Amino acid sequence: MRIHWHRRDLRGADNAGLRAAATATADDETPGVVPVFVFDRDVLAHAGPPRVAFMLDALDSLREWYRDRGSDLLVREGDPREVLPAVAAEFDAEGVTWCKDYSGLAAERDAAVRQALADDDVTRESVHDAIFHEPGAITTNDGDPYQVFTYFSKKWHDRRKPDPFDAPSGDELADVTDDEPLPSLADLGFDDPEADVPAASPAAARDRLVEFCNGPIYRYGERRDYPADECTSRLSAHLKWGTIGIREVYQETEAAKFEVAEGSDEAESVSEFQDQLAWREFYTQVLFYNPEVVTENYKTYERAIDWRDDPEALQAWKDGETGYPIVDAGMRQLRQEAYMHNRVRMIVASFLTKDLLLDWRHGYDWFRRKLVDHDTANDNGGWQWAASTGTDAQPYFRIFNPTTQGERYDPDAEYITTYVPELRGVDPDLIHDWPSLSLTQRQQVAPEYPAPVVDHGERREQAIEMFEYARGDA
Ligand code: FAD
Repeated sequence: MRIHWHRRDLRGADNAGLRAAATATADDETPGVVPVFVFDRDVLAHAGPPRVAFMLDALDSLREWYRDRGSDLLVREGDPREVLPAVAAEFDAEGVTWCKDYSGLAAERDAAVRQALADDDVTRESVHDAIFHEPGAITTNDGDPYQVFTYFSKKWHDRRKPDPFDAPSGDELADVTDDEPLPSLADLGFDDPEADVPAASPAAARDRLVEFCNGPIYRYGERRDYPADECTSRLSAHLKWGTIGIREVYQETEAAKFEVAEGSDEAESVSEFQDQLAWREFYTQVLFYNPEVVTENYKTYERAIDWRDDPEALQAWKDGETGYPIVDAGMRQLRQEAYMHNRVRMIVASFLTKDLLLDWRHGYDWFRRKLVDHDTANDNGGWQWAASTGTDAQPYFRIFNPTTQGERYDPDAEYITTYVPELRGVDPDLIHDWPSLSLTQRQQVAPEYPAPVVDHGERREQAIEMFEYARGDA
């Protein structure tokens, strides 16, 4: 028998680790894969309620999937270094497989689990699954990891992409049962997520993918920056938790490309979507080679950046009460849906770091707790890009103007008024002009909506001074 340890691969289909276990067990004395999930309190300590709610829903679906095939998902709680050798002993298993995770913390945990299994003479195999090209597979000609996305992306697109892996059949799974119900959020010590967490099943992921590839993907290139358009895939939480495999996503997008003329705008649009999948892989390799970026700036400045300490401004940002409509809409979308559109993530991250002059780590920490799709590599990459401290970062002197960003990407204020009810019915021009309206005008137009907490023009100058000081120029 083989144990397959599920972690961020909560699906049966297109799962490289599970396929490897199913193939290997065919030659075992007693064939069959025993699937297991371990609730590890140390890992959960880093999560927020929306993410854990999504994970529990995904586990529920995975369990159903196994039960439909005459098997079951064993659920245990504790330290995987102790739990996995114990499960392996319980089933007299010949080996344990799992899918690789490339963050520093996961790598440390996996090394410890490996050692514990080796001490018990259990074979262990960690399998590359979550991304197409493992860190180290795409490098510069000198063999170094890329620091600039464009070059990485070119090679990423040129490489062959494997097809999805077959799901194991019922015959390949062990006839096991686990009557213990899954724990609830409260059992795990989490509050209610207070957000509309999306359905987490692989079926929901597949429906989302198919719906996206039947239409929005062809508008993606042109409209993906417009948050009211809803033409992005919304697959991020599924990709984070592995309720869909990357090969399946790619294959479906290739099929969508095949439907339209080669070189057409629609085909280009599909490629642009695929490029976002490459960003995900780029940031995974950044994190793999630089695990310290979780808490440290990737980019070294001459002097420490002199971030401000302003708890009130931070709270206004978290509450969506900054008086900058597009920023507030994004922060309120985050609370309501545990999700935020990519363009708006960039705007709110720029606002926190370049207008409020607060350390990106405050924003990263809030996103980590609130986002259903929080992914260490992508979240950190996004924050450090916006803060001008990352690889391939936005130059420190290029600072988003929240007013013009709102005007350009939400001209009719449709996105803004979806999340900021105080501004409903207000003329979009007045909404975008809000920070420059007089107090009397603001009271006439939307008395409930807050005044701007800072002056963008002044803060822009201060941000440039702050970075020039850090660079040693001032
Ligand atoms: P789509 O546009 O449909 O993209 C498809 C997939 O590609 C996404 O699901 C995601 O897996 C990947 N992707 C897209 N854009 C990026 C990107 N810039 N970097 C890396 N991968 C990308 N993405 C996360 O998955 N988790 C995070 O925690 C996260 N935090 C972010 C924080 C900040 C400050 C910023 C600026 C970006 C962050 N992103 C994060 C990237 C991006 O905003 C989200 O992936 C995207 O908004 C998810 O929506 P979607 O699935 O509809 O994306």
